Amino acid sequence: MNACVFCRIVAGEAPSTKVYEDDTLCAFLDIRPIAKGHTLVIPKQHAAELGDLDADLGAEIFRTGHRLALAMRGSTLSADGANLVLNDGKAAFQTVAHVHLHVIPRRHGDLFGFAKGFLLRRPHDPAGTAAAITAGLAALDGQSSARDVEGKQ
Ligand code: AMP
Ligand code: ZN
Repeated sequence: MNACVFCRIVAGEAPSTKVYEDDTLCAFLDIRPIAKGHTLVIPKQHAAELGDLDADLGAEIFRTGHRLALAMRGSTLSADGANLVLNDGKAAFQTVAHVHLHVIPRRHGDLFGFAKGFLLRRPHDPAGTAAAITAGLAALDGQSSARDVEGKQ
């Protein structure tokens, strides 16, 4: 069995609530979220730290985190912003040795709730949360196709 829990998630050998997947990346809900919608973006190929990660793949990870942050704003999570955080190495408190970008939705005035979430790290309705994020991503896709059509006219 692969010792890396995120590789097991990629292989479908460990449970996860996925919100996005393509050939090289996947994104799923953090099992101990700081806030509702806290998502992790990972490369499918194992890379323990940034030093092991292909730079183009790193750019793809950020691109997906960027899209997720926008999707959270446009979704029923009603985010006003997001923290995108990557803890690289044990010195930076990386606890899972497979590169991951945290995307944590934020709302105006959420400091107390955020601090509480930081301490409690309790999941909130993972299925409903994932549905909200995937709907937000679909809405973004709709907006970019509409822009493409307008650009061609
Ligand atoms: P870090 O401190 O940046 O390494 O964060 C690792 C994150 O992975 C934490 O927020 C954990 O809650 C999360 N995590 C650990 N195991 C799992 C898992 N099986 N599924 C989803 N998230 C996980
Ligand atoms: Zn791994």
